[in-house]
Amino acid sequence: MIASATKKTSVYKSYALHNYRQIPQISRLTEEHIKAIDVVGHVLPFKSNNYVIDELINWEDVPDDPIFTLTFPRKEMLLPEHYKKMEDAIDSGASKDELKRVANEIRAELNPHPAGQLEHNVPMIEGHRLTGMQHKYRETVLFFPSQGQTCHAYCSFCFRWPQFVGMDEWKFGMRETELLVKYLQEHTEVTDLLFTGGDPMIMKNKIFAAYIDTILEADIPNLQTIRIGTKSLGYWPYKYLTDDDAEDTLKTFEKIVKSGKNLAIMAHFNHPAELSTKAVKNAIARIRATGAQIRTQSPLMRNINADPDIWATMWREQVNLNCIPYYMFVARDTGAQHYFKVPLVEAWDIFRKAYQQVSGVCRTVRGPSMSASPGKVQVMGVSEVKGEKIMTLRFLQGRDPDWVAKPFFAKYDEKAIWLNDLEPAFGEEKFFFEDELKNIYNEHITEESRANFE
Ligand code: SF4
Repeated sequence: MIASATKKTSVYKSYALHNYRQIPQISRLTEEHIKAIDVVGHVLPFKSNNYVIDELINWEDVPDDPIFTLTFPRKEMLLPEHYKKMEDAIDSGASKDELKRVANEIRAELNPHPAGQLEHNVPMIEGHRLTGMQHKYRETVLFFPSQGQTCHAYCSFCFRWPQFVGMDEWKFGMRETELLVKYLQEHTEVTDLLFTGGDPMIMKNKIFAAYIDTILEADIPNLQTIRIGTKSLGYWPYKYLTDDDAEDTLKTFEKIVKSGKNLAIMAHFNHPAELSTKAVKNAIARIRATGAQIRTQSPLMRNINADPDIWATMWREQVNLNCIPYYMFVARDTGAQHYFKVPLVEAWDIFRKAYQQVSGVCRTVRGPSMSASPGKVQVMGVSEVKGEKIMTLRFLQGRDPDWVAKPFFAKYDEKAIWLNDLEPAFGEEKFFFEDELKNIYNEHITEESRANFE
């Protein structure tokens, strides 16, 4: 039974706006839900696949099933005025170009590049902006290989959504590994290279291995860890089982480990359902057998996983499968954030209640953490000091490494959902990092963009 299910789903088939009505299970949805897929799917990226549909979604529970919500558009994901604008355009029989124009207008209002990604993090070499890279934290360079700018399915909350909706001027991506190598050689402070996207594991091994070979051949002594940020284990574990280059991909992993570098697969799992199939368990075992580590991370999202029991179950199962729980993130200030957002105080409460349920081996996880403009900021808790209710925070990563691990304090605010909603506690005028952050920005931004300075 399982063997035949594996055979049936192990040939990848994607579904998007143009063909999702062919999915047999869609007949369970009401006309209203189907219309919402059409309307929202014109604005936010939409792609699912046969593994997600046949093995992960519990169709008895649709539309509220968390994995359905994770990959299928729902009406509430757009603000009512945006929904109406797109719905009206579709109902009026607008042309393809007109629909695109309306969609782009709405997208522009959804903070397409949160946390200063375009303005402040793009490194330079020999006077060229390396637009397929980001260097925000001293030790880590992010690399966006141009063939890895899509995913096996799209998460409805994705903060990288501009990558997927054809807005070229908003895309990262570069082919030049040579420039990357040069940058890593010149910046000896960099120890970690993170392949990200989209999903770099969407790349065929031939392409992925070409990047890796160039990097390994350059023998860069400061480079210690190669990380791969991927959701392939959640969305397409057959990548490591039955795809035609599954064996070769695993060999490339092995090659990295044998070269003496640490290989860390930064696996993105949002819900325990994604850890439950035979396929994902086998894929994890095969990756672990190459010597790679698997670290796990996910944002905390209303309507998907905003419940301490879900997180505790997920962390336990990850450890059982030999993975290392790593991050709980707060939903970023972009895209459908209004639908997924969990205020910071509540996020901390969920984290704490989950953390209390698990043993020390699961407590490698850190969170809840915001990847905000100045750095990764963890909400450490709520306390009362001399009658003032406060929130304690700290940097897990900072644009200035000196900020890391210093606690700082904000006024208690149970509605705040992001760092810039918070105000300093104890009557202070600003947080300790603000002046220096301005200096850092001033060094990196051009005259034209100074007007938009955060
Ligand atoms: S897998 Fe990552 S990059 Fe791809 S849609 Fe999901 S969150 Fe975005």
